[in-house]
Amino acid sequence: MYRVIFVYAFLFSMGTGMGQIDFEARRENMVNTQLRNRDISDAATLEAMLSVPRHQFVPKNLWELAYTDGPLPIGEGQTISQPYIVAYMTQILQLQPYHKVLEIGTGSGYQAAVLAEIVDSVYTIEIVQKLGRLAEERLKNLHYTTIRVKIGDGYHGWPKEAPFDAIMVTAGAEQVPPKLIEQLKEGGRMVIPLGPHRGIRQLVLLTKKKGKIKRKDLMAVRFVPFTRKKEE
Ligand code: SAH
Repeated sequence: MYRVIFVYAFLFSMGTGMGQIDFEARRENMVNTQLRNRDISDAATLEAMLSVPRHQFVPKNLWELAYTDGPLPIGEGQTISQPYIVAYMTQILQLQPYHKVLEIGTGSGYQAAVLAEIVDSVYTIEIVQKLGRLAEERLKNLHYTTIRVKIGDGYHGWPKEAPFDAIMVTAGAEQVPPKLIEQLKEGGRMVIPLGPHRGIRQLVLLTKKKGKIKRKDLMAVRFVPFTRKKEE
């Protein structure tokens, strides 16, 4: 009986062609055509995008599409951003290895893994429990030991671990959550998609200098919405 299952599983994997996909080659191609050919030039960001096995962060039936130039569904109505957007948001934070980074919107954990390839410690918050738990498990299995995942409303940030050198929000918000500004270090950088609910938003870079916040609009983007816990 076990042999039958084994043979079936083998045939199934052949049938879907998964056994033959050279993920490393696809990743390299993604980095060259989608990132280097555009405006991603930060060495650490390119290196991180080459290293993280993006296919491991999407459902198996989408492995075939994991390195294509677009976003992908990750369950619970959420999506993993297009590789270019992940790289762009990473690069704009000008990360250093000793930085402590906060991400809001863990989703699949992919962006957190990219950050963890560059910096020493990553803190990430996910509001949908199922996604957060899955991401935590996945990151553990992939040996990302410097990422801490919390289930909760990222609107409040992570006060116990603040301040952060950089903050990345990966869900589209209508306004910047004030606590996140508070938890940003002097000289720190925050990237966040801002704009009306369901509309096209602006990807915005906020920098904190002498306690003041400077805003720079970067590009128009589409993101799944930043949600809030009902009781609040
Ligand atoms: N960075 C993710 C993709 C993010 S999709 C990745 O690499 O896969 C946006 C995520 O933000 C979704 O999982 C959504 O559930 C989450 N989210 C939305 N509002 C949130 C909030 N207030 N706090 C924490 N997470 C939130």
